[in-house]
Amino acid sequence: MAGVLDDADIGRVLCITAHPDDVDFGAAGTIARWTEAGIEVTYCVVTDGDADGSDEDFPRAEMPTLRRAEQVAAAKCVGVHDVRFLGYPDGRVEASLELRRDLARVIRQVRPDRVVCPSPERNYARIGISHPDHRAVGSAALDAVYPDARNPFAFPELRDDEGLAAWTVREVWIAGGPAPHHYVDVTATFPRKIAALRAHESQTGHMDDLTERLRTWLARTAELAGLPEGRLAEGFQVLETA
Ligand SMILES: [Zn+2]
Repeated sequence: MAGVLDDADIGRVLCITAHPDDVDFGAAGTIARWTEAGIEVTYCVVTDGDADGSDEDFPRAEMPTLRRAEQVAAAKCVGVHDVRFLGYPDGRVEASLELRRDLARVIRQVRPDRVVCPSPERNYARIGISHPDHRAVGSAALDAVYPDARNPFAFPELRDDEGLAAWTVREVWIAGGPAPHHYVDVTATFPRKIAALRAHESQTGHMDDLTERLRTWLARTAELAGLPEGRLAEGFQVLETA
């Protein structure tokens, strides 16, 4: 197991997710800690979450605009002001060459030290976390980190037409995978995480027990981390990718 880089050595983080709200369920407590420490965080959301939502009467055509706005508002709750959307169709994401190129482009634009992404592996213990879009985005994100973004001869149009130089990401944090081994105490930033989740009103507006449900999940994660009772944590699998 690789050592985890010190946050003091991290200037920029890029969080790649499949849907609006994924980052808030999985990592917003950690993100809030990073932005509080002065780290610049960018979100890249692959779909607009247009196949989601519990209200069948809501006009589907308006869903992408609504969910983008909700994600931008949620990002602000945890100190993130740069949110990019790739506009892929929700529920039909594949780890295609096109997606790898689009993610390599964002990596070369943002030049992050650390990337956060979903797991390409199925987590048999939690079916929802292994949504096919999550696995596809996780797979394409890892391929974009290595080799695409760092190889100047991969997708040469990025360099030749867009002037984007190769970039090597030093570390990847996988959220929601089957094998977390690194935990972040998010007790202090939990209220900001809840505020971010509440910003996704089309998704969480009907969840009266949202805070309690999240507190239970994060307390269980803190227990796995060996933290004292009453603490809350988010878990990750950290890969050294330099
Ligand atoms: Zn999702």
